[in-house]
Amino acid sequence: MGIITVLDEETISHIAAGEVVERAASVVKELVENAIDADAHRIKIELFADSTAVTRIIVTDDGIGMSEEDALLVFRQHATSKISRPSDLAAIATLGFRGEAMASIAAVSQVTLVTKERGSSSPAACRVTIHGGELIECTAAGAPEGTSVLVEGLFYNTPARRKFQKSVATELSHIYDMVERLALAHRSISFVLLYQGKERFRTYGNGSYADVIAAVFGATFAKELVPVEGTYGLVKVSGLITRPGSEMKTTPSRFYLSINHRQISSRSIQWAVREGYGTLLPKGMYPAAFLDLAIDPRDVDVNVHPTKKEVRLSRERDVQRGVQDAVYCALHDSPVFSATKPAE
Ligand code: ADP
Ligand code: MG
Repeated sequence: MGIITVLDEETISHIAAGEVVERAASVVKELVENAIDADAHRIKIELFADSTAVTRIIVTDDGIGMSEEDALLVFRQHATSKISRPSDLAAIATLGFRGEAMASIAAVSQVTLVTKERGSSSPAACRVTIHGGELIECTAAGAPEGTSVLVEGLFYNTPARRKFQKSVATELSHIYDMVERLALAHRSISFVLLYQGKERFRTYGNGSYADVIAAVFGATFAKELVPVEGTYGLVKVSGLITRPGSEMKTTPSRFYLSINHRQISSRSIQWAVREGYGTLLPKGMYPAAFLDLAIDPRDVDVNVHPTKKEVRLSRERDVQRGVQDAVYCALHDSPVFSATKPAE
């Protein structure tokens, strides 16, 4: 007798959820990324917590919304509107594409989704409630165009994962960091983040990097940065970095990178930034850097990491060189730096 069985849907969804939904911040990331992919201009993130956990996450957007048919498909595993064939994986332009996030979130929490398709002639929006992956109800509701997702009781049915959640303060700080990164990578979208009904920060969606940095970190900090702009080899770089002589940190805590609008972490690009500073960087110190790289999507493989935190670059060395040159040129053109340069 064989001992192998093919796992049932519920078990599969719990395994998948384990990869995608590590903590409350992962839920926020996936919901906000869906709003961005849905062409939202405004995204509101509301958080509520009691003394032990983040109890409610609500993400509301004014994006394209969904039909009733799609609103039910959202929660199916591998259901996505973003790709349809293997060749689509070669050049992904959206943040999502696996069709796993909503199914994973719904498997380990209680979700209420209210959505209304943009331009729809129907007066009503559609409300879908789903608990632990089980559909509870699907009804008509009144709501503006766009989508609102409420997630409650995260990990209520996965005690092992719930036990590993840190204090509310720690979980909140992960969420804030995530929203800040998303707002920094999507400057044409207005973000507002509220905790217990109180506004934490708001960006205006006017496209300005400096304005988003000022909204998140304060205007004084934003003034200490130098712009980086231009195409260097195969990479178009834009952003802001610490002006030499300004305060630097001993850790790379303010390193914000996005490649083709996907916020990611990359040690190799971080290295390239420091190389660009060269001798302008005091030993052991890290500048702040807010950089957007535009690279031909065919040279970027995003299908590497379950949460897409890292990407693989097919011509990494060339990208590093481009970033290094961009940083070097920005610093050597910087008026403050030129002013302190000895006369030639
Ligand atoms: P993916 O983003 O990888 O496609 P998700 O599970 O995150 O997978 O979402 C499944 C699908 O649900 C998306 O492809 C999209 O069509 C739809 N969807 C999810 N969130 C939204 C939203 N906020 N607005 C419009 N459509 C959405
Ligand atoms: Mg998604």
